[in-house]
Amino acid sequence: MIYPASGTGAWEAALCNTLSLGDAVLMYETGHFATLWKKMAENLGLKPEFLGLPGSEGWRRGVQADKIEARLREDTQHAIKAVCVVHNETSTGVTSDIAAVRRAIDAAGHPALLMVDTISGLASADYRHDEWGVDVTVSGSQKGLMLPPGISFNAISAKALDASRRATLPRAFWDWKDIVEMNKQGYWPYTPNTNLLYGLSEVLDMILGEGLDNVFARHQRLAAACRSAVTAWGLEIQCADPAVYSPVLTGVMMPDGADADAARKLIYEHFDMSLGTGLGKVKGRMFRIGHLGDCNDLTLMAALSGCEMGLKLADVPLRSSGVSAAMDYLTSHIAKPALKVAA
Ligand SMILES: *Cc1c(COP(=O)(O)O)cnc(C)c1O
Repeated sequence: MIYPASGTGAWEAALCNTLSLGDAVLMYETGHFATLWKKMAENLGLKPEFLGLPGSEGWRRGVQADKIEARLREDTQHAIKAVCVVHNETSTGVTSDIAAVRRAIDAAGHPALLMVDTISGLASADYRHDEWGVDVTVSGSQKGLMLPPGISFNAISAKALDASRRATLPRAFWDWKDIVEMNKQGYWPYTPNTNLLYGLSEVLDMILGEGLDNVFARHQRLAAACRSAVTAWGLEIQCADPAVYSPVLTGVMMPDGADADAARKLIYEHFDMSLGTGLGKVKGRMFRIGHLGDCNDLTLMAALSGCEMGLKLADVPLRSSGVSAAMDYLTSHIAKPALKVAA
């Protein structure tokens, strides 16, 4: 399903097409976006249960699938209708192991639907809707797909489509049924976002032209270079588990007493670079460096230079040069040269 809406619309579509008033939903607190999705579930009249670690500890790790398995095993009546998790938590720079969540649901022998938000993960981090047995995948245009905001997606399993025939939450704009019917004739039930569909066709050519594996490898390499800079600065990476470092962005924690937003403001004013702010529970405590989409060695180096100069201006004590460390990383992990096509 393709919606002329931001990612939030596709979140709502996933919930309202498959669930009914008062349904229990198991969600997992990985950060700000997981929290917003849970709030939406409440607003729609669902009963979300929020699993996670205490305080902001869960904002440094991915989904702990064993917690999901244990909770589903307790639910012998199968009151829980869906498990909802975020694949790449954009507020922290932490990914979650979706295959492990699938295995946890299967190990518990539970029929709940698996819904995954990969709004910021798609086309930057490896993701497998079919292979991982996801029932509804939610994504959007303006992160790894490099488009302006304005279209978002649901990818749907046969099981989810079947659930949508029995679900009774009110829905109109988001209704899969009308879209499926109209799509058969090559149309939408309302005006599609035609301009962005042309853009989507272009970015898919770009991504598939580079090769999906090359795209993922490029993101992993830039992310590793970025982390080497953070470590050289002597600052902590928001993600505390190296197994789930995000290839999309890196969250940088400030030393105690230093205000991340003050440093962000200096960097914006002096170097015209806008860094992601700390959201929700980590507001003021961290900032985020994005390295997704149309990004290469020099765009990353420029971003890291801006950060390093800004952190110095903000009087944040740095152990050593992160810029230098990132250059060392990039030159010792050289990528295959991009194919240059003559005009
Ligand atoms: C950006 C984002 C959203 C929200 O999408 P909008 O397009 O802003 O509505 C939700 N979840 C994640 C993980 C995101 O990165």
